[in-house]
Amino acid sequence: MFPLYLDARLSVTTARALWLVLAMGLGGTPLLAQRRQHAAPAPAPAPGRRRAAARSPIPSPRAVLGFEPGDDRKLADWPVLTRFYQALAQGSDRVRYRELGHTTLGAPFVALVISSPQNLRRLDAYRLLNAKLADPRALHSAAEATAAVHDGKAIVLVTSGVHSTEVGGSLTPVLLAHRLATDTSAATRAILDNVILLLVPSLNPDGVTIVTRWYNRTLGTPAEGTKPPELYHHYAGHDDNRDWYAFTQVETQLTVDSLYGVWHPQIVLDIHQQSSTASRMFVPPYLDPIEPNVDPLLVDGANALGSAIAWELAGLGRTGISINSTYDAWTPSRAYEHYHGAVRILVEAASANLASPVDVPFDELASRARGYNPRERSWNFTAPWPGGRWTLHDIVTYQSEAAYALLGNAARYRDRWLADFLAIGGRAVRGWKGWPYAYVIPRQHQDSVALATLLGILRRGQVEIRSALQPVALGGQRFSAGSYVVVLRQP
Ligand SMILES: [Zn+2]
Repeated sequence: MFPLYLDARLSVTTARALWLVLAMGLGGTPLLAQRRQHAAPAPAPAPGRRRAAARSPIPSPRAVLGFEPGDDRKLADWPVLTRFYQALAQGSDRVRYRELGHTTLGAPFVALVISSPQNLRRLDAYRLLNAKLADPRALHSAAEATAAVHDGKAIVLVTSGVHSTEVGGSLTPVLLAHRLATDTSAATRAILDNVILLLVPSLNPDGVTIVTRWYNRTLGTPAEGTKPPELYHHYAGHDDNRDWYAFTQVETQLTVDSLYGVWHPQIVLDIHQQSSTASRMFVPPYLDPIEPNVDPLLVDGANALGSAIAWELAGLGRTGISINSTYDAWTPSRAYEHYHGAVRILVEAASANLASPVDVPFDELASRARGYNPRERSWNFTAPWPGGRWTLHDIVTYQSEAAYALLGNAARYRDRWLADFLAIGGRAVRGWKGWPYAYVIPRQHQDSVALATLLGILRRGQVEIRSALQPVALGGQRFSAGSYVVVLRQP
């Protein structure tokens, strides 16, 4: 690919000529007809039909799983978890269950849509409104933009359990979904009214079952709590979370095609676990360096939201929370959302031995962690955890409280999140100073399979690709008509 800079090296006339030969919109001849493998979530059934259907009672987690999420030495495999989510959606008018497709090993890949019953009835209207905020070119006046911010809902995507040995991640969504389905407090009502939550209870359902079955088989043996001797994602293993610029795995493809590309979230929470000797939980701000192509408002958003979560947890009496430690947000391979206008919040709870408790004496806490010392109080680690027993119950408690705090913030500052999202898209459409004007991808003398793959990846990531209508000469090179052109001024 040849970067094209709009500076002294490229005359204004040449740039204008390029403009003229570009086909507008999502044109071009798609070499790789990108079949949508799986459709967007289906529209809501008519309200009348829904009301007519008798609802079954909302099940407790215990009624389906046979235990309380967080109980020592208890894990649930994917078939049991999906039974719970289906029963929850059947019992609650705040929860919709969606099967987006199938995993690598053929299991259902699932998302829940959670919001107030009123919002769920108008889901399609909110999706269309949010699509306008995601592409400011679709808004034709300041009044229309103000109305979209006023009327829209904050779209929050929560993804959990991409790393299957981080077992809290497969149980926390049970607690979160159940709380949102049953709680009648003002705080939960505000979340349901202002937020449309897309909850992916596991980004790697195959691994949930692999780890659960291994754990249950080794319970009471010397191998209890160890990692399975099998990759918990058969192709990608632990690196299944580094797939967000190549989209090689079906789980990534489903999430991008059916959720990111359709719903354009403003906030994404990704639930993880770190080592048992680190802080009890990491939340952003991230460490430097900041990836220079990430909009500053997203960095500000992650700083503010992460700090707000840490503050909420501290208010609930949780200790051992570190911010601005350990993790940066540099790589696009994990941070897809940073290139699509959304704030990425990573939370990392300390681990036990899968579902078996651990004892962590204070002096065994890692003394040389990145950016803080888990044995010393500091501005970004205000209340050290004293050491002791650490259990799965602690993990799911921290994780579900963090998720709930995030949703509370999204609800309280709904219009702020939407206005920032619109502003970020607007800046991208106008282009940043120093960005190349466009990339040209020649059509000739290329490996056609590689070219098709590249174009397919770009299109999946919702990059607009145009094609030159006439031959064009630029920077001493000739490009034939039909060359692909990616103008960087796009959302
Ligand atoms: Zn992880």
